[in-house]
Amino acid sequence: MQYLFTFFALTAIFRIEKPADAPPPNIVLIFMDDLGYGDLECYGGYPQHTPNLNRLAAEGMRLTNYYAAQAVCSASRAALLTGCYPNRVGISGALNHESKIALHPREETIAELLKAKGYRTGIFGKWHLGSREPFLPLQQGFDEYFGLPYSNDMWPVNYDGTPLDTTNYRGRYPILPLMEGNQPLRYLKTLDDQADLTKVYTERAVRFIKENHEKPFFLYLPHAMPHVPLAASQNFRGKSGQGLFGDVLMEIDWSVGEVMRALEMHGLSNNTLFIFTSDNGPWRTYGNHAGSTGGLREGKGTAWDGGVKVPCIMRWPGRIAAGSVCNKLVAAMDLLPTIAHACKADLPKEKIDGVSLWPLLDAQPGANPRTEFVYYYDRNNLKGIRKGQWKLVFPCSSQTYLHPGATADDGFPGKWGKTEVPLALYDLSSDPAETIDLKDRHPDVVTELSALADKYRRMLGDDLVKVEGTEVRAPGKVE
Ligand code: MG
Repeated sequence: MQYLFTFFALTAIFRIEKPADAPPPNIVLIFMDDLGYGDLECYGGYPQHTPNLNRLAAEGMRLTNYYAAQAVCSASRAALLTGCYPNRVGISGALNHESKIALHPREETIAELLKAKGYRTGIFGKWHLGSREPFLPLQQGFDEYFGLPYSNDMWPVNYDGTPLDTTNYRGRYPILPLMEGNQPLRYLKTLDDQADLTKVYTERAVRFIKENHEKPFFLYLPHAMPHVPLAASQNFRGKSGQGLFGDVLMEIDWSVGEVMRALEMHGLSNNTLFIFTSDNGPWRTYGNHAGSTGGLREGKGTAWDGGVKVPCIMRWPGRIAAGSVCNKLVAAMDLLPTIAHACKADLPKEKIDGVSLWPLLDAQPGANPRTEFVYYYDRNNLKGIRKGQWKLVFPCSSQTYLHPGATADDGFPGKWGKTEVPLALYDLSSDPAETIDLKDRHPDVVTELSALADKYRRMLGDDLVKVEGTEVRAPGKVE
C-alpha cells in the first residue's frame, strides 16, 4: 500500500497535467527543406551557430528516431499534411510546374482540420503539392499563403546564377513566382532574389502571430532553405565562418528565434506546440552546399536512412518535459493525429496511417505507438520495411552517392549514380549506417518482415512486384 501511495505521489509530481479549461493550443510547424539528421548541433552534428535551435531542444523533446515519409519533397509534404503514406493519397516524387496531378482537395489537411475548430491558418513558404489554382493552399485549408509553389531550383537559372537558355531542360522552366494567395506577387530571377526568402517568410510568420495572437492559430513555415540554390541575406552571408551552408543554417536559426520571440512577446509560448523538422535528408550531390546525414547511409532521393531519418524537435512548456529525448520509432504521418489530439480536432474521415504521439510526449511508461514503417520510393516501389530495430531491404535499383564524382562543390551538382541493391537485413539499433547484412543470421526476421511487407503491398501497392494497392486513393488531376 505504501508503495502504491508512493507511486501515485510520484506520478502527481512528475506527470505534467494540462488544466481542463486551458484554451486550445497554437501550432507552429517549421519545416526545413533537405536538412539532414547530422546538421544540428543538438543532434550531435558539427557545432554551428544555432543558439535558438539549441534552446528549442533544451526546452522540449528531441525525437531521435523520426522519419520523413519519403526522401523527396512532394511525397514528404503530402504525408506531413494528411497523416497518410504519400502513396495512399497518390503522390510521389517532386511535382513541377507542368504536373497535372496534385494533392486531391478532398484529402483533409492539418489546416482543414484546425480551421474547422476555429483556427486561423497560414502557410509562409514552399507548398509543392500542386501549383494549379484548384490545388493551391487556399483551397487546402489555409487562410493565408505567401511563398513558392514548388522548389526553388525549378527556375531557368544556372547554379552560378547565370540565366539558362532553352537548350538546357532547366532553361525551359518559367520564372519562379512568389505567390500571395492564388496569384504571383512577384518573380524571383536571380540568386539575390532568393537571398531574402528566409527573411521575408520569417517576417510574414511573425506578423501572422501578431495579428492572430488572440485566437488559436496554425502557423506552417516551410522554408525554401537549405535546398539548393543556397542563399542567405546580407545580414548572414559570410557571417558563419563555415561557408554558405553555415550562413544559411545561421539564418534559419535566427528565423526560429524570431518565431520564439514573437510567441514570448504575446505570452503564447506556454500554450503553443512548436514543432521543427525537415522534409528529407541532405541532397549530397551538391557537396559543400548540402547538409549532413550524421553518418547515416546515402541521402535524399533514396530509401536508405540518410534520406528519411531527420531531426524533429517538439516543444510545449509545461506539457512536454524540457530536455527530454525520445528514441522510439515515429514518422511524419504521426504529426496530424498528434496535433489533432492536442487541438481536440476531428481526424480525417478517410483512413490515415499516422498514430498520435501523445503517449510518448507524455512519457507514459512502455509507450510505443508506432512499431512499423515502410520505405517506399520512386513512383511506388516498396524498397524496405522497418519493424522495431530491424530493417529489411528488398532487391531494387537505387540512386547512390557512393561513387567517384557523385558530389560537387559550390552549388554545382555531381554525377548521378545508380546501384543495384540486394536483399539485406540491418539491425538499426547497433548499425544505424546499414553496413552489416544479417539476413543469413536471422532468417526468422526476414520471414516475419517479408510477410508484413505483403500486408502493405496489398494496401498500398508495389510497382516492383506489380501489385496494385486496394487502399490507394486517386490524386487531384487537371483534366
Ligand atoms: Mg526536400
